[in-house]
Amino acid sequence: MVERVISRVRGRGSKNTADDRADVAAVVTTRGVSKAKIKSPPSVKTKRMASKSVAATPAFDKKTIALVYDFDGTLSPKPMQEYAFLPKLGIKAADFWAECTRVARAERADPLITYMHLMYKKAKEKGVRIDRADLVAQGRDVELYAGVAQWFGEIERYVAAHAQSDGIAIKHYLVSSGLTEIVEGTSIYKYFANVFASEYWFDAYDLPFPKRVITDTGKTQYLFRINKGLEDYNESINSHMPEDARPIPFSNMIYFGDGETDVPSMALLKKNGGAAIAVHAPGGSAEKCIELFAAGRCDFYAGADYRPGSDLFRRTTLLLDRMIADIRVKEEVWSVGHEKTGAPQKAAG
Ligand SMILES: [Mg+2]
Repeated sequence: MVERVISRVRGRGSKNTADDRADVAAVVTTRGVSKAKIKSPPSVKTKRMASKSVAATPAFDKKTIALVYDFDGTLSPKPMQEYAFLPKLGIKAADFWAECTRVARAERADPLITYMHLMYKKAKEKGVRIDRADLVAQGRDVELYAGVAQWFGEIERYVAAHAQSDGIAIKHYLVSSGLTEIVEGTSIYKYFANVFASEYWFDAYDLPFPKRVITDTGKTQYLFRINKGLEDYNESINSHMPEDARPIPFSNMIYFGDGETDVPSMALLKKNGGAAIAVHAPGGSAEKCIELFAAGRCDFYAGADYRPGSDLFRRTTLLLDRMIADIRVKEEVWSVGHEKTGAPQKAAG
């Protein structure tokens, strides 16, 4: 039930993301210009075209790959609320989730809003005060699967070794129904370009009130935000944006999830040329993953072992290899289009 929960963009997000975007843009521009200088010389015709158009021609800019992760059950074995919040209240996790399900059904309430409400209702009943800082501190107790802490650096090193010379960059995003506050306290928070998770409003009423609730289908909104480069909550997501104006195509994304709640996100990416990987507890049942695989929801599935050499690592890098090759092909097509006309043309993809 936990899995179901969250995602939100944490506060630092918009600023860091803007910086990151600026950095990526700088790399791409630099690479684009140097490629134009190095590769243009082959023919007199090309040189002539280049002198006319290179300065005014923007570089191919669809060169960022986004890895998007669910949290509970994907990066961490258990729902994040089970590591500190529920133990602090002396409540058994199974009892808590069973009550959430019961109440949600009886009241015909959204299960995620119900769990967020019940957490603080229980805390109040027990006389336990847990403010935002306490929730963030609980992030330190959250267990991660083997290799998760090193994964981000290892993946970045892989991309650097295989594609950074082409200006291809990688970003990690979290989209979770869990709590932003707890995620902020984990050791891996710093690796995410942005975190989209549920969050509390602490001074709204008598009890903390949900400020944002990220449901299973709601997760897809954040994939669109990453796709359109509209990561600030204040930016409207619904205006039309042509495909070639979107900074990270769906085909440059890989989604990592562990279950039913990830189906809408996996389906969105799979239908739009992106990729998805399902994970299960190492040594645990792969039944759900097999179901997702058989239904075409994911490209691969593997145990949630994030260490180099694991099936998960190997299958992820296989998908990265394909994406990197695809980006190179699209960049070449884009370059050919510009060389032939001497002026920017609509780029494919
Ligand atoms: Mg999950």
